Amino acid sequence: MGIIVQKFGGTSVADPQKIHNVAKAVIKEKNNGNDVVVVVSAMGHTTDYLIKLAKEITNNPDSREMDMLLSTGEQVSIALLTMAIQSNGYKAVSMNGQQVGIITECIHSKARIVDIKTDKLNKYLKEGKIIVVAGFQGVTPDGEITTLGRGGSDTSAVAIAAALKADRCDIYTDVEGVYATDPRIVPNVQKADVISYEEMLELARVGANVLHPRSVETAKQFNVPLRVRSSFKLDNLGTLIIGVDNMEIYKPVAGVAADCSQVRILISSLPDIPGTAAKVFGALAKHNISVDMIIQSLAIDGKNSIAFTVDAQDLDDALKILDSEKDHIQSGNILTDKDIAKVSIVGAGMVDRPGIAADMFKALAEKNINIKMISTSEIKISCLVEKQNANDAIKVLCKEFGLESKEIAVVKGDLPNI
Ligand code: ASP
Ligand code: MG
Repeated sequence: MGIIVQKFGGTSVADPQKIHNVAKAVIKEKNNGNDVVVVVSAMGHTTDYLIKLAKEITNNPDSREMDMLLSTGEQVSIALLTMAIQSNGYKAVSMNGQQVGIITECIHSKARIVDIKTDKLNKYLKEGKIIVVAGFQGVTPDGEITTLGRGGSDTSAVAIAAALKADRCDIYTDVEGVYATDPRIVPNVQKADVISYEEMLELARVGANVLHPRSVETAKQFNVPLRVRSSFKLDNLGTLIIGVDNMEIYKPVAGVAADCSQVRILISSLPDIPGTAAKVFGALAKHNISVDMIIQSLAIDGKNSIAFTVDAQDLDDALKILDSEKDHIQSGNILTDKDIAKVSIVGAGMVDRPGIAADMFKALAEKNINIKMISTSEIKISCLVEKQNANDAIKVLCKEFGLESKEIAVVKGDLPNI
């Protein structure tokens, strides 16, 4: 039949019993007549533990050595899972990133995959073997070990599915699928049966951390159908993630998410001349700092101000860079605001429907929630609010957009059989 890539996260392989359960899920898929490639994360909180260990040696560990260290976590779980599968009488083989040929850029700790060799994978599949691949890691063309960034095993799995032209990539996790928001905040929130790559991508970017955003980008680019499903309830199909073209959307908003990991930087008294924004953001980009929301409004007396958000962990670096470029940029004061949460509504269905933004602002106003900054894209509206208001904002927006019950989206005709 087809090729199925399955990915199991750290919680699914946290102990030997759980590894045996994963082996069962893998064998079930193999018994369906499919060729199976499994991608696994490190057991439980192994990666956190390894990071802690490194920090106990030095505050500033070398990034090459960090990759050397962190990549060991996944190597443990592939060997154990392979043994568990073999102990059930099935043929299986483990492979690390280097053995597969998961080629990445030469950037330590957040490398992107540039190519995946399929010859060895195909050879083992032809021999009837289940292949267990270490997620999160790759190798540069020079043979240096790299990692893909926290949560990167999702991306490993999708990239392997794309390279093998797999029929589907199933991401098994400890939740039952993709919810319109965090069920810990809105307990009766809907689970989506189907959601589009585009919506999932926006939800992942604005703080719904079900999937590594790059995994969804890769799935979209190569049109890999993805399922997010529970590793504890194997019969549940979870949420299918496919292209928006296959969906008939009747709700404007598919999900609500909050991101409390950003800070806001405000630069005042910038000269209102061509090239100012290019200088500010060029300097940050040169140091690999990504910027999210950016607002620049009316100039007064030839001076303007720009406000933008960055990841809190990039704040110190960003301030240092802006300070060292102060004369070049000709900036005035630089202020920071750490008390922000970015609350976003996401939905491919908002494209042709006016009034969604107004409904969002009204719902927040009725809860007396002040909006500090607003930004929009085609399928997303984000508002910065104070951190303490984030949960209330999520609740009121789920209510406003009817995400507390019923289905979120339906597929034209029957659900695709993938
Ligand atoms: N083990 C890595 C992490 O904890 C990668 C992953 O789990 O996806 O971030
Ligand atoms: Mg994960």
